[in-house]
Amino acid sequence: MFDEIIAHIRKLYSRKENINLHQPFFAGNEKKYLIDTIDSGYVSSIGEYVNLFEDLLAKKLNVKYAIAIMNGTAALHIAQIVSGVEKGDEVITQAMTFVATANSIKYCGAEPIFLDICKNSLSLCPEKLLSFLESEAEIKSDGQCYNKKTKRRIKACIPMHTFGHPAKMKELLEVCEKYNLVVIEDAAESLMSKYRGAYTGTLGKLGIFSFNGNKIITTGGGGAIVTNCDIIAKRVKHLTTTAKVPLPYESQHDELAYNYRLPNLNAALGLAQLEQIDSFVLKKRNIAKQYERLFNDNDSFKFVKEMPESESNYWLNAIVCKDSFLRDDFLKTLNNQGILVRPAWNLLNTLIMYKDNQTGDLTNAIDLQNRIVNLPSSVV
Ligand SMILES: *Cc1c(COP(=O)(O)O)cnc(C)c1O
Repeated sequence: MFDEIIAHIRKLYSRKENINLHQPFFAGNEKKYLIDTIDSGYVSSIGEYVNLFEDLLAKKLNVKYAIAIMNGTAALHIAQIVSGVEKGDEVITQAMTFVATANSIKYCGAEPIFLDICKNSLSLCPEKLLSFLESEAEIKSDGQCYNKKTKRRIKACIPMHTFGHPAKMKELLEVCEKYNLVVIEDAAESLMSKYRGAYTGTLGKLGIFSFNGNKIITTGGGGAIVTNCDIIAKRVKHLTTTAKVPLPYESQHDELAYNYRLPNLNAALGLAQLEQIDSFVLKKRNIAKQYERLFNDNDSFKFVKEMPESESNYWLNAIVCKDSFLRDDFLKTLNNQGILVRPAWNLLNTLIMYKDNQTGDLTNAIDLQNRIVNLPSSVV
């Protein structure tokens, strides 16, 4: 009963026996730039490609600063430190996201609170956020938001743009402003996705990206923080480069910091990839259009479309199956035939290290987690 879908995917990725969910695509200056780093000797922590990559990324996203970092998880960690997240704080995020979002909260000594996602954006739901804060939180005389139950300060909120689909940022920003929460966008999956004409990652106080091998562009491993704030940008650069004081030849460090920089070798690959991003997005939107047509008028599978006011990069295409039995059947059949399709992440509040963390009402997340399947989405 899945024959038409299988035929469609096979045709889309015609020359492949085994079809991956998402693999990198190298068609530009990748080899040239990589060889250049080797020839010059600058493969490590110093080199021009880091600056070139950061400059092009900032330009593409129409944001003031982009700071390259060794991976998206490290970027999330630093983003929270510079946002003032401290030991004993709490940070709100969505239950359905990649584990790194929550892990990075714990790295700060803070605890994640898991809230629900919207049915259509699959990202943090502003209505659920507001109702959680209205019943569970209060603003104290210091102007900060506190959890009435745990007495801990709630410092920040990290919405994640799931599979590339922008969250409802206007509403989320309004709620977070009311409760004095710093908004950090986990835009790891949504490079070049737009919301009301602005790029995801640039709408909150700061945003993070990942350039892991499975993302829309890759640096091998890598990430970035973007922001329009001068002070934050400066702080991020300092904290990710061992707090080294710029002196002509002496080595001096003025605080405890991290070696989270992106090597020049990785930045060279990233620059070549970023030069092609516009064509990647076009191709991915075209793949999505074809999937949308395939699942049009289908009672068993609903294709996840971009929302009004949003332009998705369609990093990973997704369908919502009628029920979990159909989902299981579909996963088994296609994977057995070498077509890698996969379910959504297990909700983070069900993982052993987060089983005692506070959650809100998770109706949508629980329902969708049972029924979502991601489809092969590589650029071809
Ligand atoms: C990939 C990803 C990350 C982490 O990125 P890494 O570069 O692999 O550390 C964080 N959040 C989300 C939602 C991701 O998809």
